[in-house]
Amino acid sequence: MKRDTEETGPGTRAVWAGEDEYLLQGATQVPVVHSVSFGYDDVDDWMDVAQGKRPGHIYGRNTNPTVQAFEEKVRALEGAEAVTSFATGMAAISNTFFTLLSPGDSIVSINDTYGGTNKLFLEFLPRFGIDVRLCDTGDRASIEEAIRRGCTLVHLETPTNPTLKVVDIASLAEVAHGAGAAVSVDNTFATPVNQSPLALGADLVIHSATKFLGGHADALGGVVCGSSDLVTRIYHFREITGATLDPMAAYLLLRGMKTLHLRVGRQNESALQIARFLEAQPAVEAVYYPGLESHPAHEIARRQMRGFGGVLSFAPKGGFEAVRALLPRLRYAHRAANLGAVETVVGPPRTTSHVESTMEERVAMGIPESLVRYSVGIEDVEDLIQDLAQALESLDGD
Ligand SMILES: *Cc1c(COP(=O)(O)O)cnc(C)c1O
Repeated sequence: MKRDTEETGPGTRAVWAGEDEYLLQGATQVPVVHSVSFGYDDVDDWMDVAQGKRPGHIYGRNTNPTVQAFEEKVRALEGAEAVTSFATGMAAISNTFFTLLSPGDSIVSINDTYGGTNKLFLEFLPRFGIDVRLCDTGDRASIEEAIRRGCTLVHLETPTNPTLKVVDIASLAEVAHGAGAAVSVDNTFATPVNQSPLALGADLVIHSATKFLGGHADALGGVVCGSSDLVTRIYHFREITGATLDPMAAYLLLRGMKTLHLRVGRQNESALQIARFLEAQPAVEAVYYPGLESHPAHEIARRQMRGFGGVLSFAPKGGFEAVRALLPRLRYAHRAANLGAVETVVGPPRTTSHVESTMEERVAMGIPESLVRYSVGIEDVEDLIQDLAQALESLDGD
C-alpha cells in the first residue's frame, strides 16, 4: 500500500513518510540493506538503471534503499521537491558549498555559524579563490548590503549555535533572490517541526541529522533538501567525492525520526520553562533563548518558528571559573559535545561547537567565554530545573 503523507500533519509524516516502498516481504520496518552492490541478470535492465531511465541501485556510494527511505522521510517533513544525504552535517554543508561555488564567486553569511562552517569560511573557501563575506548576525542592514553587492550563495543559520541568534529568513531570501543568489539555511537547531525554511523562501535546507533528527546521539548524518535542480547537482558532487551516509546510520536516524514531533514538542516546552527559570536566578548573568520576550529577535522568531527549540545557553556570573564549578554539579546532563538528544547535554562552546576556533575567533563571533550551552532532553522538566537550582545554589556558597 502506498500512503500519501503530503496532506497529513508532521506527526503522521514523521511516522509513515518514506517507508512503504522499502518494506520487504511484509516487514513493518525498513530493513538495513548492507549490500554494497546490486545485481542484474538482464544487462538491458542494468543499463536502464545505470542511465537513470528507471529506479534501482547500482553501487552503495551512489544510492542505497535504507538511505533513500531516511532521505524520503526528511524530504516529506521539509516539504521539499528533492533530497540527498551525507555522512555528517559538515559533509552536507561543505559539499553544498563546493558544488555551488567556483573560484571568483562570492558567498555571504553571518558571523555566528556553527564552528565547522565558520572554519570553511575562514580556512578553506578562500584557498579556492572564493570571496567570503561574513556579517554581524544582528545587523540586518549590513547583511543586505553584502548581498546587494552581488553573490552566488547566501548561507544562513537560525537559531544560531551557541548564542541562539535569529535571522529573518523570508526577508533576506527576498533580497538574495533580487540579487540573483540562492539561499541555504542550516535548520539543525529548529528542526522541521519548528521551522520550514523552504516555505519561507529558502532554496536549500541543511541538517546535521546527528542532532535532533536522529535524536539519540548514536549516529552521524547530514541532509540537504530543496529544488531538484540544485539537489541533483549536490548529489552528483557527493556521489563522486564519496561522503555517503552509511546504511546502519541511516536506519538509526530513520528510527529516531519517528518520534521527532514528540521529542521536539516536549523539548520546546521544557526549554522555555528552563529559560524563564534561569532568567530569574541571581547567579545567572544572561540567558539566550528565542522564546524569551527579552530576546532581541523574539518577534522574528515568533513569526517564522512554530516552537523555539530545545537548545538554550546561559552565562553564570563569575566567568569561566563559574562554568568550571557548575558543570560537574549537574546530575542529569552529559557533559559532552552534542545536542538534540533525548538526554540533556551541556558544554561550553570552547570544548563543543567551537572547539576548532581560537579564543580570538570566538570573541569575534561574540561568544562569551563563560557561556554554557544547554540542550534540553526529554526528562521531566521539574527534575532538570531542580538540578540546575542545586548546581547554581552551590556556586553562591563558594
Ligand atoms: C553539529 C552541527 C553541524 C555539524 O554536524 P555534524 O553532523 O557534527 O557534522 C552543523 N550545523 C549545526 C548547527 C550543528 O549543530
